[in-house]
Amino acid sequence: MAELPNLLAANDRYRADFTKGDLPLLPSRKIVALTCLDARLNPAKFLGLEEGDAHIIRNAGGRATDDVLRSMIISYKLLGTQEFLVIHHTDCGMLTFTNDQLREMLRRDMNVDASGIDFLPFSDVEESVRQDIQTIRSSPFISDDISINGLIFDVKTGRLSEV
Ligand code: ZN
Repeated sequence: MAELPNLLAANDRYRADFTKGDLPLLPSRKIVALTCLDARLNPAKFLGLEEGDAHIIRNAGGRATDDVLRSMIISYKLLGTQEFLVIHHTDCGMLTFTNDQLREMLRRDMNVDASGIDFLPFSDVEESVRQDIQTIRSSPFISDDISINGLIFDVKTGRLSEV
């Protein structure tokens, strides 16, 4: 792994003045933010969050998959969160392909059948936020007491807008 030595050196510098070793397990601001893995997004920075404040769950697109619901259930039932955010963003890679295209690439390059996988691409960012809020809201395992809000992060301006 070409970057590993650089990353470990960066960690040496980080831990040299690390002072947050005594934070409580429960996130102090009771927030869960679900967002995309896009490298341009720094959710802690754009939301003004510090270590210990919130749970941040990331995957391709920031989609509400079964595994995200698993994490959300653990987060609110066991770790006390109360406010969920679904944050998608402009210029998302999920806008650039279809399930069929990615399945065909996998078939062509590796001779594997991915017909059973929904990669959850989308063509409308606001609509995908609404869909994911609906998925979370309709889960029987997520309490109605949880607030769920949708946001879109603009990668050009850094602005968050509500959906
Ligand atoms: Zn994205």
